[in-house]
Parts: sequence; C-alpha cells; structure tokens
Amino acid sequence: MKAHHGMYIGGEWRPAAGADTIEVVNPVDEQVIGRVPAGTAADVGHAVRAARAALPGWAATPPTERAAKLAALRDVLVARKDEIAETVTAELGSPLPFSQAVHAGVPILVAGSYAELAATYAFEEKVGNSTVYHEPVGVVGAITPWNYPLHQIVAKVAPALAAGCTVVLKPAEDTPLTAQLFAEAVAEAGLPAGVFNLVTGLGPVAGQALAEHPDVDLVSFTGSTAVGRRIGGTAGAAVKRVALELGGKSANVILPSADLAKAVNVGVANVMSNSGQTCSAWTRMLVHTSQYEEAVALAAAAAAKYGDRIGPVVSAKQRSRVRSYIEKGVAEGARLVVGGPESPREQGYFVSPTVFADVTPDMTIAQEEIFGPVLSIIRYEDEEEAVRIANGTVYGLAGAVWAAEEAEAVAFARRLDTGQVDINGGRFNPLAPFGGYKQSGVGRELGSHGLSEYLQTKSLQF
Ligand code: NAP
Ligand code: MG
Repeated sequence: MKAHHGMYIGGEWRPAAGADTIEVVNPVDEQVIGRVPAGTAADVGHAVRAARAALPGWAATPPTERAAKLAALRDVLVARKDEIAETVTAELGSPLPFSQAVHAGVPILVAGSYAELAATYAFEEKVGNSTVYHEPVGVVGAITPWNYPLHQIVAKVAPALAAGCTVVLKPAEDTPLTAQLFAEAVAEAGLPAGVFNLVTGLGPVAGQALAEHPDVDLVSFTGSTAVGRRIGGTAGAAVKRVALELGGKSANVILPSADLAKAVNVGVANVMSNSGQTCSAWTRMLVHTSQYEEAVALAAAAAAKYGDRIGPVVSAKQRSRVRSYIEKGVAEGARLVVGGPESPREQGYFVSPTVFADVTPDMTIAQEEIFGPVLSIIRYEDEEEAVRIANGTVYGLAGAVWAAEEAEAVAFARRLDTGQVDINGGRFNPLAPFGGYKQSGVGRELGSHGLSEYLQTKSLQF
C-alpha cells in the first residue's frame, strides 16, 4: 500500500512537525503495510490556519460551483473505486466484495448526494419581512473512526464543503491510508488549497488538539461514547458547535405476525456484516416467547454459515475487547449457541460469529456496545415488554421492526426511542437523517439534515 510521509495541508503534502510515525497493520495477517506520520498539536495548528485562510473564498463561492467541485470529487472516487476497496480491505480487513459494495460504494452515493444538494439547497429564504441566509459555520474539525473509514469521512466532509465550510480531518489511527487516498482525491478533483486538510495521528494527541483548538468553529466526532463525552464537554466550555455520532445497542424487534425466518436471517446478516463493527447494528434480537426456540435455532444456523467468511476485527485490542464481552456473557449465564471466545484462526484478529440465547435485558452483553460479531437473543412476553426492553439502554441509534402488516410495524416503531428504524428489512437511504436519540449522540448526518448541521442562520429584517 502506498503511504504518504506528510500531512495534506493547504493543498500540498507537507512534512510533519515531528518524527513519530504510526504503523498500519493488516488485520488478516498482522503484517505492517505502511507508516504514516503521527501528527502533533503543531501539525493541527498549521492545518487549522490553512483551513481558516481558505474559508472566506470557499464560503463566498456560489453553491453551484461548490456543487461542481463535489461532483468532480465524486467522479474521482468512482474512478478510484477499486483502489479504495483494496485499501480498506488492507487496513480494516473486510472481505473485498464488501469493501467494493459498501466501503467504496456508499461514499460515492453520499458524495453524489451532496453534489446535488449543494446545487439545490435553499441557502436563502424569506420569512415574513425577513430574508434568512444560511451561512457556513466556519472551520470544521472532523474526527472519524475506523469502522467505515471512507464513509465516516465523506459523511462529514461532503456536507461541510457543500455548506461552504473548510475542514481539518483527523482520521482513526487504524485506517489512515484510506484517509490519505481521500486527500489525493480532493486534490485531483481540483478543490481549492486549504479547503480540506488532513492530519494523521493519535486521538489523545492530534485528535484532542483539534477538538480543543480555539480557531475551530465546529467539531464533528464519530466514535466511542467515552471520547464523545469529553469532546462534547470541551466544545461546551468553548461555546462551539458539536456533532457527536456515538455508539448503539439497537433492537431488532420481531413481532409474532412477522415472517420469522426472514426477520432472523436478515437480522443475523446485519450483525455479522463488517464483523459486527457497525454502530447501528441490531445486536439485540427481541423474539416473542412463543417463537423463541425456533428463532434461536434459525439464528444459530444462519450464524454458523458465516464461519470464517466474515473478516477479522480491526485490531488486537478490539479482538480482546470483543472476547472479554463473550466471556462476560457466559459468566453472567447467557446460553452460548454458536461461536465463543476462542479464535477461529491462528493468525489475524478473527472472532467467531457468536450467538447468545437466554439473554436477559440487564446483562452486560445486552447493555453495552460490543462492536464485534455477537448477537444477543432476548425473549419478550407481550408488546409492552418488547417496547420496554427495546428502549431499555442508554443508546438510541437504530433498530428494526418486523410484522405481517406494515402499519403494525410502523405503530411499534413510533414507540421506539431511536433515530432510525428499518421496517420489514427496509433499504438504506443515503438521504435520510442518521443520528442518535439519548446517548447515541447529538446532531444528524446525511441528506439535507446533515447539511444543515454545518450552517448557521443570519436574519435580515426589512
Ligand atoms: P475512539 O477512541 O472513540 O475513536 C474515534 C476517533 O476519535 C479516532 O479518530 C480516535 O483516534 C479519536 N480519539 C480518541 N481519543 C481522542 C481524544 N481524547 N480526543 C480526540 N479524539 C480522540 O474509538 P475506538 O477506540 O477506535 O473504539 C472503541 C469503541 O468505540 C469501539 O469498540 C466501539 O464500541 C466504539 N466505536 C463506535 C463507533 C461508531 O461508529 N459510533 C466507531 C468506532 C468505535 P485513534 O484512532 O487514535 O484512537
Ligand atoms: Mg481509540
């Protein structure tokens, strides 16, 4: 894999301020595939200065021209799709077909959606005797995780640029090569210098410096609740805008009238996809007591089929985290029906697809985000209890409801404290707002709602 030795700042690759580097490891074979610079506060300072200098020009660029640049960026991502997929596979470990379809495919959709939105969004509106202008918030500090390396970047950078903001990105230390590839795409698409800047580095060093930088106007963070809470606190103290996309513990609620086999199979696939490293994964399956054992058998069969077809988790640290959750599930009395804490292979950060039955709502594995291929199947006696269990965590990011009639599923979904619900296996919509209720976060990404996060209003009265 090709790695840049510098930071992308002010439209060029510049040497880092310090000499430290980060090793990038392939999770499939544990080999080092590249090294990138470990940025410091000095690099962040340079990048923020470049973003600030580029802001007036970019903010004043007509939205149709910003749209044209985003369309050019989308076209570069399309042209370099295979390279993107190979890079994500190399540093995240996901199977190549999944990288092609999702890790490369979804960011192309999202970049395209913002090329369109930049051209059509009402940046100016009339309200009675006022004209309201929707103006860019300013310099954005974006901090992203490794689980969907390019999607998480594009879901922040594309709307920020569409809004007229400029950006400094600190990507996850585990997946910096995808971020460098994105910076190359930005350059190739002809975006003006300084509009997008990249500082690779460690969270507590480069990430924290970016979140604390006084000249950053908005911090957009996706990752763990622990770090999100800190970033929210820092932003609050500085009275600056913040968007937090944090964890989830979403429920897949199968009502008794549903097509059980379909609901279970889609539910298992949802959890195993990306090796369980999806914040919106439906990691709790809620099944009526009358169908419980049948659902457990179906889920066990579905999960067993995955075997080692799923990729590894991203790092040794994640693997031990996931394994300790599996051990905790056993210790707390859940019934292990497939998988377990042992590694299925000698090499690579693999975790067996794992299914637990007889999980009660208060168990650790039913409450905390595991971020691995682990499904918990929970029993409910009636609909009231199903609502209570589904809503009974600190999170509220996503979920699913299955029923024979759409109306029945919708009525149930309206009672869920969560930001997204898929009805009978509904498809991903890149224009629908994505974000959390409760401790799953603050703010929304994607579509016009995601764009408005990067705008502030100015009202002129006449
Ligand atoms: P994380 O530490 O929250 O990482 C997210 C991003 O924040 C990374 O770029 C990280 O840098 C950076 N960061 C870390 N500490 C920071 C700080 N003090 N100030 C500013 N930025 C900081 O998450 P993780 O350690 O990679 O994963 C841990 C758990 O978080 C997972 O097991 C999962 O439960 C959850 N998670 C959730 C999502 C999601 O989509 N909601 C995504 C990833 C992880 P480094 O890469 O250097 O750490
Ligand atoms: Mg971390």
